[in-house]
Amino acid sequence: MNDAAQRYVKLVLAMGEHDSDYVDAFYGPAEWRDEVRAEKRTLDAILADARALRGTLEGIARPQHNVEALRLDYLRRQTDALIARAEILQGATLRFDDESRALYDAVAPTHGEDYFRALNAAIEAELPGDGALVERVEAFRMQFVIPREKLDDVFRAAIDVCRARTADEIALPVGETFTVEYVNDKAWSGYNWYQGNFRSLIQVNTDLPIFIDRAIDLACHEGYPGHHVYNALLEKTLVRDRGWPEFSVYALFSPQSLIAEGSANYGIDVAFPADERVAMEAETLFPIAGLDGARAAQYYRVHELVARTGYAGNEAARRYLDGEIDAGAAAEWLTMYALMAPARARQRVTFFDQYRSYVINYNLGKDLVRNYVERRAEGDRAKRWSVFAELLSSPRLPSHLT
Ligand SMILES: [Zn+2]
Repeated sequence: MNDAAQRYVKLVLAMGEHDSDYVDAFYGPAEWRDEVRAEKRTLDAILADARALRGTLEGIARPQHNVEALRLDYLRRQTDALIARAEILQGATLRFDDESRALYDAVAPTHGEDYFRALNAAIEAELPGDGALVERVEAFRMQFVIPREKLDDVFRAAIDVCRARTADEIALPVGETFTVEYVNDKAWSGYNWYQGNFRSLIQVNTDLPIFIDRAIDLACHEGYPGHHVYNALLEKTLVRDRGWPEFSVYALFSPQSLIAEGSANYGIDVAFPADERVAMEAETLFPIAGLDGARAAQYYRVHELVARTGYAGNEAARRYLDGEIDAGAAAEWLTMYALMAPARARQRVTFFDQYRSYVINYNLGKDLVRNYVERRAEGDRAKRWSVFAELLSSPRLPSHLT
């Protein structure tokens, strides 16, 4: 299977020559990239080679050993997604749900406006008053902005707490570390660029005010036990220990992203179950940010309620990308039902333009990973960590989670 895996890696790299977002990480042999660059394969040639690879993979008998069988499933499904993305780059148009199934091995549920109105009613009860609900939510949140000059201190403290909690439960590869940079003018609010050798570069976008919840959100999601740990564990257990080259490359528009984003989001709950987050933030992060820790419980009550509107983002993206509404209407939908201030909603629509149905990976991904882990952990804290760590170290697909 290593031969087929090597062909897969080179195809992903070749796709990266046509699609600058495609290769999220690569830390395999530099000669492979040089070779791919010299070849200059066209999309037609990539498609033909990818279909041939798919044929080879189909001809390999499913191994008896569980992890080897998962590996074969993974390579087949990742190759299918690569073929779908190449066809999209050639002009194929897929409906939102068809695209997410082809690229991420999953389809997000559909919710109507009544569903989101009911969620908004619960937030109304928490923040009564006049004017549009989104304005009240925004005014409330603005009381919890991390001042720009305290941002780095707050993030560093958040990273320390998340790292310590993760290191207590997961054997992190020796020497793992990352750098944090502050950037502007991006469609995302944070990004982890995995560089191999157990190192990451984490970038934080400071275009918009950063609320206090983003500290743990970013520290866990991008760092511990999120993307940084996921990538480092894949490198350690699959690339180095098993010698599987396909994990030295990470194709962004592929099923792997649902596992990556879902585990990065759910990782926050793994690191801070129940009320532990509020207690830690009240005591540690709020004071560093110059905020009143006594208000942490209220802040997170509202935050949790607003987070439940996350599927409104999928609806906006689905309607927008399926051509049912324009960019302005998509931003309005986000403001109305996901309670995003207009500037944030506009930033989100640019994310839809760039990443399309990728949006489902965050909330649907989190729900799928949570259900998978919780079914096995049965409320036991240590077991939750061990199931989670096993998921981060194995070639599992979204359709394996259900
Ligand atoms: Zn992410």
